[in-house]
Amino acid sequence: MSRKKKRERPDPASLGLPAGGVESHAHLDVEEFAPEEIGPVLDRAAAAGVSAVGNVFLGPAAYLAHRDFFKDRPEVFYILGVHPCDADKMAAGDMAAMEAAFRDEARLRAVGEIGLDYYWDVSTSATQQRVFREQLELARSLDVPVVIHSREAERDTLAILDDMGFKDRPLVWHCFGGGTWLAGEVFSRGWLASIPGPVTYAKNTDLAEAVAAMDLSRILLETDTPYLAPEPWRGKRNEPALIAFTAQRVAALMERDPAEVWLTTGDNARRFFGV
Ligand SMILES: [Zn+2]
Repeated sequence: MSRKKKRERPDPASLGLPAGGVESHAHLDVEEFAPEEIGPVLDRAAAAGVSAVGNVFLGPAAYLAHRDFFKDRPEVFYILGVHPCDADKMAAGDMAAMEAAFRDEARLRAVGEIGLDYYWDVSTSATQQRVFREQLELARSLDVPVVIHSREAERDTLAILDDMGFKDRPLVWHCFGGGTWLAGEVFSRGWLASIPGPVTYAKNTDLAEAVAAMDLSRILLETDTPYLAPEPWRGKRNEPALIAFTAQRVAALMERDPAEVWLTTGDNARRFFGV
């Protein structure tokens, strides 16, 4: 009887990337992580060369309940918004609570993730669009960048952003999964694209083709932890350290040195979020 050999998965620190990379989008304050795991997870990220991590809080209640998880970890900056899938659950005081949070906490750097999600379809599109517009208005009044979530809703997302005058404002298209058409729409408006782990999946040829042609000065890297772990960790719980494999794949597609992709996307993120 032959025994199946357990697959060896490499340590992200073994890629040898220098300190200076930025993980622009993670959800560490979710039930997939016990609070006491967050410190070791951030230590593993630092060992892999990650110098800053953007934690995305899904609404003001999560922010107020979980922000203390990061009080001793100054490398974590914050992103806060009501996700489109939660639009129907938005409470009356949520907008005021978010505005107060941004005025009170300098580590809050962007409104997000906000946008439209017609894939899960758990909130009606009319409600999603209203909540999206309200939060775009909040970002403008606070003068902070926005982080966009758009799934199976690209044309409506672009139409609302155009209608709200967001061309040439600081905006990143989170978890970019499109092809050359969507890349053109995003970059022609002066925005950034954040490249996630699925760029490492062999079947995502449209995404690979789009990324190969992207201008390195216009992209960020992210994990969307705990989801979407890159190869060779696909299927496992994701964590910020694994972003090193995404950087390696992006570098291969762009025919550049991984350290250059790592440090340049890190600089892009530092400039974008002001961290
Ligand atoms: Zn997210």
